[in-house]
Amino acid sequence: MKIGVLALQGSFKEHIEMLGKCSVDAVSVKRPEDLKDMNGLIIPGGESTAIGNLMQLSHLDMEIIKRNRHGMAIYGTCAGAIILSKSIVESQQPRLGLLDISIKRNDYGRQADSFETELDIEKIGKFKGIFIRAPVIEKMNNGVQILSELNSKPILVQKNNILASTFHPELTDDKRVHEYFVDIVKNS
Ligand code: GLN
Repeated sequence: MKIGVLALQGSFKEHIEMLGKCSVDAVSVKRPEDLKDMNGLIIPGGESTAIGNLMQLSHLDMEIIKRNRHGMAIYGTCAGAIILSKSIVESQQPRLGLLDISIKRNDYGRQADSFETELDIEKIGKFKGIFIRAPVIEKMNNGVQILSELNSKPILVQKNNILASTFHPELTDDKRVHEYFVDIVKNS
């Protein structure tokens, strides 16, 4: 099983380390050819416009979409969730559009720009949620399933082999969300 982490910008090192704790030897993905034989891909948090622009420039966007069609699972955290979304409120920035949700960037307001809070996640349990200038998932369509919510807004969602969170499990010591994704990859 091969899992890659998109390493254009953002918290990719932390994801690679976390996958290591799950006994997965993760590979950094920088060019389309790095996706060869990949069974899973993590798109990290960071700055979604930067990641999206670099993804387009390197033609990784088309390759990721193609590989997903052939069964490659994808997990996007924060900026990664924005990149996966079909619709980004008031933005035309580059995205993959693979997950039918509408997402609004930086929507927790200035005072709560970044915060930590205890979450309750279906199939996982209590989990430390780290939110950094996080987006809010406003709408979900076509069978997207909610695995956790905060203030009545989804913060971890899944459709088939695509998982997206608006928080950063890679910045905790807790590998359970990554293990959940590794299981999706195994079954994908
Ligand atoms: N605010 C960033 C964006 O809109 C996302 C922040 C993050 O990934 N922690 O792209």
